[in-house]
Amino acid sequence: MKTSFINGAFQGQNDNVLRNINPSDTNDLIDEFARVGREETDLAISAAKAAAVDWGQSNPQKRFDVLDFIGSEILSRKQELGELLSREEGKTLVEGIGEVTRAGYLFKFFAGEALRIPGQRLDSVRAGATVDITREAVGVIGIITPWNFPVAIPAWKIAPALCYGNSVVFKPAELVPSSAWALAEIISRSGLPDGVFNMLIGPGSAVGDAIIKNRSVDAVSFTGSAGTGASIAQQCATRMAKVQLEMGGKNPLIVLDDANLELAVDIAVQGSFYSTGQRCTASSRVIVTDGIYQDFAQLFAERTRALRVGHALDPQTQIGPVVDSKQLEQDLSYIRLGQEEGASLIAGGGLVNAKTPGYFLQPALFSDVDNSMRICQEEVFGPVVTLSRVTDYEAALAQAEDTQFGLSAGIVTSSLKHAEHYKRHASAGMVMVNMPTAGVDYHVPFGGTKASSFGPREQGSYAVDFYTKVKTAYQLPM
Ligand code: NAD
Repeated sequence: MKTSFINGAFQGQNDNVLRNINPSDTNDLIDEFARVGREETDLAISAAKAAAVDWGQSNPQKRFDVLDFIGSEILSRKQELGELLSREEGKTLVEGIGEVTRAGYLFKFFAGEALRIPGQRLDSVRAGATVDITREAVGVIGIITPWNFPVAIPAWKIAPALCYGNSVVFKPAELVPSSAWALAEIISRSGLPDGVFNMLIGPGSAVGDAIIKNRSVDAVSFTGSAGTGASIAQQCATRMAKVQLEMGGKNPLIVLDDANLELAVDIAVQGSFYSTGQRCTASSRVIVTDGIYQDFAQLFAERTRALRVGHALDPQTQIGPVVDSKQLEQDLSYIRLGQEEGASLIAGGGLVNAKTPGYFLQPALFSDVDNSMRICQEEVFGPVVTLSRVTDYEAALAQAEDTQFGLSAGIVTSSLKHAEHYKRHASAGMVMVNMPTAGVDYHVPFGGTKASSFGPREQGSYAVDFYTKVKTAYQLPM
């Protein structure tokens, strides 16, 4: 049975077993893990605290070497790690390998960033004095991640945390322990001093809660649902810990009359349904202007019906299974709700019989929706999409903006005027022109506005804001 990684060793063996089941084939037991609780979490936090000072002062070359080693090994094993990821999370193999590749490059990017940690020297306004503005490690970072990107999300938090000299206590989602364990195993051989990196397998209510409440954890980076995020922010605020939250989305994709029809449908299908719609950046509201609506709706529905749903590792599969029975029940309940609210289900929405027992759902497309319906306002986190008809760009923009979320927003158009206007007026943190709302680069900032995100941006050189604290030092000549 596999265990957590605490203070430089895999440990925490006990009888509380977490069984990792393949959502494409529920007869396939991937692995078993010993769950840990509060006691082991506090142990890991103490180890991280003890290691933080030295690591915070470590040589940038050492940090580069560690991060570069991790990135190189991930990239050289992308096929094997991609397969493991797809087997436990359910995204297709192409998507699994793509995610692992991205994680490898994230470590490589932050290896380089370790060599260029920014700082400034300014002349003081007081005669002869100088002012140094430096960035220092924050200390111990608690990292809490969701199940839908089991390698990439941990990578985009762990890599900058280590890069800027912090120690880490990482708690992955319980649905995806195998990817987290594989990542921890690679990190365990990277040359990090004991205690700098820890990985704990266990429930959010025990391990996650212990991380948030422990005063030795200086900052918490969380990605997950809005409800959990809000409670984490409140608890961190009471003890003045730094916090960064990435949460849900209800991302609009606008299609204007002047769009290329084939391109627009490709972008809608890819952004809405790939990765089984289980992406915080998925296009879940498609908003189409009158002139192209009929043709677009017909082709989008045809393409949705034709999507091949099946085992994640089958090369024919375009859409893998839903991650587990609970998420499948949530998807089905929103499909029922949409019908009760008066929307028309024009494609999919039913269970799919496959060769193996799994959580297979034909992507669902609703038309005739009103943006105030719950299926247009609440995050489903599955392959369930609404299609609405508007008169013109201005109406489309107003509807796109009518949401509590602000993660990603897309538009398909050949009008430079509308593309430019949308980039400036969409309130989301990320805007996509003629590209799907989901699918982002690894070297630029990622994050949203409104209820989607809280705190400094993740990724790219902007990650420095969360993972460092700023010091201003004044000096008169000796
Ligand atoms: P979740 O909130 O249920 O769980 C996320 C993590 O928090 C898990 O590791 C879980 O164990 C832990 N957790 C749960 N309760 C906790 C508690 N009381 N204290 C501390 N930790 C706790 O989310 P999920 O179901 O794993 O993921 C799906 C959600 O993640 C969706 O809402 C999706 O939009 C969001 N998501 C957001 C982004 C983004 O960057 N904006 C990316 C991916 C997923």
